[in-house]
Amino acid sequence: MNNLDLQATGREMHALAAELYPLCRSITGNGVRSTLQRLAQDIPLAVREVPSGTQVFDWTVPEEWNIREGWIKDPHGRVVVSFANQNLHVVGYSTPVRGKMTLSELKLRLFSLPDQPDLIPYRTSYYKKTWGFCLPHRDLERLEDGEYEVCIDSRLTNGSLTYGECFISGATDEEVLVSCHTCHPSLANDNLAGIAVAVALARQLASCPQRLSYRFLFIPGTIGSIAWLALNEAGIHRIQHGLVLTCAGDAGPITYKKSRRGNAIIDRAMQHVLRTSGAEHRVVDFHPYGYDERQYCSPGINLPIGCLMRSPHGTFPEYHTSADNLDFIQPESLADTLVKALEAFEVLEHNARFVNLKPMCEPRLGKYGLYGGGGGQRTGGFDELALLWVLNLSDGGNDLLAIAERSGMRFHKILAAAVALEQAGLLHKENLTC
Ligand code: ZN
Repeated sequence: MNNLDLQATGREMHALAAELYPLCRSITGNGVRSTLQRLAQDIPLAVREVPSGTQVFDWTVPEEWNIREGWIKDPHGRVVVSFANQNLHVVGYSTPVRGKMTLSELKLRLFSLPDQPDLIPYRTSYYKKTWGFCLPHRDLERLEDGEYEVCIDSRLTNGSLTYGECFISGATDEEVLVSCHTCHPSLANDNLAGIAVAVALARQLASCPQRLSYRFLFIPGTIGSIAWLALNEAGIHRIQHGLVLTCAGDAGPITYKKSRRGNAIIDRAMQHVLRTSGAEHRVVDFHPYGYDERQYCSPGINLPIGCLMRSPHGTFPEYHTSADNLDFIQPESLADTLVKALEAFEVLEHNARFVNLKPMCEPRLGKYGLYGGGGGQRTGGFDELALLWVLNLSDGGNDLLAIAERSGMRFHKILAAAVALEQAGLLHKENLTC
């Protein structure tokens, strides 16, 4: 992480979100393909297509949806709602329509938010064939009686579901899965922020050798993770840790939602990183609602995968509205989410269990060049108190993360102490914990 310029990386992540913002993504279609094409400029990305109709566990990959235009013309022939201005205006997966109707007929097809009258809501109808428009309530109220003309030039065809997969091979085939959804149109925090942080994470991890292998999935929510799990069932056992990234860029404090297991190493690592960060944060228990952790943590899968976010979905007024735009996400918040994930991954990379080879009272540290001349003084880049914690708790039962948790000291300090003690011949590495 030393070589990471956080300010510049934060700006890059925001710029990537801005580039992707106008694309009309959905759970299938060309908006997703264009998004993945752009990501492939930054990271090695395999783009995969799963044909419509493919059975994936209890689900079926739906028809592919694409849209060229959508608009409403008022009785004077003026365009009052236009997909070209903002893709949230058309209900996702709307079936094609072209025709004329009265205002009262049209109103049955219109969605707005009376409590947030200036915002366009985000609506979809993936599995029930229908069509509709979304608009600010203020605009809806201004519509006058008369005959309206509507057009949605969309297609639902036998095509495929598209997702992207980036694999960064480490020294072992134990995997960390990082998953984010790519299925929302112009929404910044609930979609693009997770994508931007995942791309930055992949780039950073690929820049130096890793012990663990990392698999990044850029998939449509729900059906994407279900399809991936169904088609990759044979390799699921390699996944030792994981994170779903979502809502990763708003100004709220960071939130970690634990995996279904609740005490997996990723759960402990994330909590340790957040607790020792000194910053406000929230840790919440697993619940079967939210993002793709619902699938990764379904009982038959039960992977140790938590969810890293800032403000949880549904808790901020901008959620699923046109106010979840590029101003709602900030470079500093994106960078902070990235750092927290990297710090947790550092724990996963280096956590190990050691045994103290001189457990009969404290070893005389001065003999090994490890004595700083007084309690708690820093010598040679490590902390004397950290040495004492590692020596005391390295009885074979505690891993370094447990020592960091119990001492309240940050993992990297404990790790530095363990490395120094091992080099001095005072510790023996037992085994990796995962
Ligand atoms: Zn959403």
